Amino acid sequence: MEQRRRPAVPGARPRLLILGGTAEAIALARRAAASFDVTTSLAGTTENPARPPGRVRIGGFGGAAGLGRYLDENAIDLLIDATHPFAARMQANAAEGCALAGVPRCRLLRPAWQRHADDRWIEVDDIAQAAAAIRSPGRRVFLALGARDLPCFAPLTDHWFLVRGVSPPAQPIANGLFLQARGPFTLGDERRLLVEHRIEVVVSRQSGGEGARAKVDAARALGLPVVMIRRPPAPPPPIVDTVAAAIAWLDRQSAVRPIAAPLAQTGPADAG
Ligand code: NAP
Repeated sequence: MEQRRRPAVPGARPRLLILGGTAEAIALARRAAASFDVTTSLAGTTENPARPPGRVRIGGFGGAAGLGRYLDENAIDLLIDATHPFAARMQANAAEGCALAGVPRCRLLRPAWQRHADDRWIEVDDIAQAAAAIRSPGRRVFLALGARDLPCFAPLTDHWFLVRGVSPPAQPIANGLFLQARGPFTLGDERRLLVEHRIEVVVSRQSGGEGARAKVDAARALGLPVVMIRRPPAPPPPIVDTVAAAIAWLDRQSAVRPIAAPLAQTGPADAG
């Protein structure tokens, strides 16, 4: 679709909408604030999410058409989709909504973890396959997943589950333990956790990123298998994999001065 033309307001900074819920979205909002009028959008699914600098809006848009309307009504110039790699619906809606509104969009998608020679990964396509994969190999399981994925594991009544999350699940876990915690976690933290709870198998999404990888490294160090859920298919290009590359894309899209603020070294964990 043809890109929207809006009368230029002298001196006004371009309006940037960041679709957030990740540490990268916060780092991006921090760096872009010097040159853009930044709004970050959160889904509203996490209690007390880490808040980025700048304006924050919370809640769904009402599908791709709703996002298209929001972009139009709020005169958004550019959009970076910095949602989690598993936010499949939002990334598809971002591509479609931006096309409808004629707003340039870029997907910021952190690199996936690379498999080491001594990793014992069992790669699967979805949660149902993950539940099937642990039927025999393990009894004590660390589920590094969201609360909404837990029902798939409910039929495995002879297993013991360790579940960790930012918010407790709606239903208590009958055969296991819920730990309320927010990352990032260190290798030492994760190793201790796996040993203390005598974990035999880890179930994880292929999230990528530094904040969540320690559990995968700890499993490798302890020789434990990891049922690794593959990512959903990527959306249409452009796609970048670092905050710096997203800033470079923004600079190319606008006539603003280059953004000089330093990259954040560490960031908070993901939160919707
Ligand atoms: P999803 O399945 O792709 O999205 C479901 C719906 O939630 C979307 O259709 C949209 O509603 C709304 N939504 C999602 N992200 C939004 C955002 N940033 N701003 C406004 N609305 C948003 O996504 P999800 O997997 O439920 O994840 C929800 C949020 O949690 C995302 O922002 C993601 O970055 C974050 N997160 C997800 C995971 C994960 O493993 N999936 C992990 C950590 C953080 P409408 O259609 O009504 O617009």
